[in-house]
Amino acid sequence: MKYIGAHVSASGGVENAPLNAHAIGATGFALFTKNQRQWQAAPLSEASIRQFRENCLSLGYPPASILPHDSYLINLGNPDPEALAKSRASFLDEMQRCEQLGLDRLNFHPGAHLNKISVEQCLDLIAESINLALDRTEGVTAVIENTAGQGSNLGFDFAHLAYIIERVSDKSRVGVCIDTCHAFSAGYDLRTREACEATFAEFDRIVGFRYLRGMHLNDTMKSFGSHVDRHQSLGAGEIGETCFRFIASDPRFDDMPLILETPDESRWPEEIARLQAYSLQG
Ligand SMILES: [Zn+2]
Ligand SMILES: [Zn+2]
Repeated sequence: MKYIGAHVSASGGVENAPLNAHAIGATGFALFTKNQRQWQAAPLSEASIRQFRENCLSLGYPPASILPHDSYLINLGNPDPEALAKSRASFLDEMQRCEQLGLDRLNFHPGAHLNKISVEQCLDLIAESINLALDRTEGVTAVIENTAGQGSNLGFDFAHLAYIIERVSDKSRVGVCIDTCHAFSAGYDLRTREACEATFAEFDRIVGFRYLRGMHLNDTMKSFGSHVDRHQSLGAGEIGETCFRFIASDPRFDDMPLILETPDESRWPEEIARLQAYSLQG
């Protein structure tokens, strides 16, 4: 089963996200469970939690089709101890929100060293942050997203993802999400079938498909290896349509959320329909 959707709005309450996903013909979706640009958020209300679960059940969204994303403010590799503690507390809160909603994974950007510590030191902090959150939660997998490598953000190299996973104690609750725009910006070619085969073979060798828990399907405005993160509608950017047809029709990407974060939301219904058509063509 291919779960194909977009990062939809949860404005007015998380229970609206499945309704918004259904309205665009999505079979999966991503959401923020709180305002992604604020540290503090009110706890989820009992009514909101109940309604979210009900809407997901009635509209056919199992946990494996949903990819919640954490706040952009969180940096689990922050070299400053106080800032790190704040990020860790916020990340734990996000994991607990997923637990309450019955969701089984949380997608996050690994972290940035801010040019104050080494790459390894930063990756060690990130792994420790994940271990701390997993110790205090149940049933939710920490899903590390690859990045474009803008600024001092880590996770742009598949080896960074593998390094973190190696240091997480509970391997059953750590996974990764690959964003096609980020991968391409980081220097992994996806422009042809052969390039996709090679990139995902490298991913499998270094990280392993067994850790893949979701994909972000985005084309990009920026050139190959630019390390700049600018999403574009599918087929309208530097990556091109071939990559998205490849992923939609490859069974290695079954049973996980395949999520659009493309900039033109008015194109989502059509982009989703196209991906669903590819998935049926095989
Ligand atoms: Zn992404
Ligand atoms: Zn991005």
